[in-house]
Amino acid sequence: MAAAVEDRAVTPAVAIKVIREHLVPLLSDVHRPLISIQGQPSWDKIRTLYPALVFASESQQEQLLAAIGRMIELFVRHTDRPPREIEFPPFIEVFSFSRLCGYLGVPIAKPLLEIDEGTGDLYRFCKYCWLPVRRKDVCAFHTTIVIGAVDASSQPACAHISLKQAQRLRAVFEQKVLALATRDEMEFHQSGFGLPALLPPSGLTQWLDARRPHLARLVRNQAGASANGLRILSTVLYGEELGARVVEAIGGAVYLWTPITTRAEGWLAAWAAKSPRGGARRRATKLLEE
Ligand SMILES: [Zn+2]
Ligand SMILES: [Zn+2]
Repeated sequence: MAAAVEDRAVTPAVAIKVIREHLVPLLSDVHRPLISIQGQPSWDKIRTLYPALVFASESQQEQLLAAIGRMIELFVRHTDRPPREIEFPPFIEVFSFSRLCGYLGVPIAKPLLEIDEGTGDLYRFCKYCWLPVRRKDVCAFHTTIVIGAVDASSQPACAHISLKQAQRLRAVFEQKVLALATRDEMEFHQSGFGLPALLPPSGLTQWLDARRPHLARLVRNQAGASANGLRILSTVLYGEELGARVVEAIGGAVYLWTPITTRAEGWLAAWAAKSPRGGARRRATKLLEE
């Protein structure tokens, strides 16, 4: 996928490719023509997409269009001085995170984890949640095939819904992640680069309260379990056993948790906005509520 364009200078043609791969799939068929470019790609043409999307968003009451427009605008603003080296990870939240890191001058290391199948990249997310992929593009929970033994006593929050529910949640989930990544990035720039957009080495709960409120609630609910905020966060996100290994893998570079929390927050917000009915809802909300 977008990994194909990693580490190349950004030209308008590359920018269009990224926009097609990352943003166009988020739009419904009706809205896709809004992000089409005629003829040779140029920065001027790409720049016109932003006002077009914002205008369409206002006239059609579609928040998502404005979010995509802002994402394009940020993208153009930060790649406009060619040639510029930028890495395009396959997920919008990691992509946005990389740009923030670039501005702050902090190194972006892929957090790696030893798993049964070899080395796993924590930023290669399951398409339905924030867990790392185990098979093709899904995690151990969101697949019909049983992958190894799954410890039922301590599971991550997203494991409590069925694959069908996860599939139904996906579109809203992606929209929420995009909106959150965009908001973080916009506010960071508006603050003159002062906003703590990355997960800080201390003051984790305050940061979660301010920037990841749904996740903050889950962490609070578990607060009795341990005094260590990062340990609780890792348990909520990955379950106990895997969580401990992720804490170890990320180590002191705690800002590397940021895109994972973006994805989890987007998921939880999507769940809150669009949870299913009936028994499945009761089972799944048990974990996600007090
Ligand atoms: Zn998953
Ligand atoms: Zn900027």
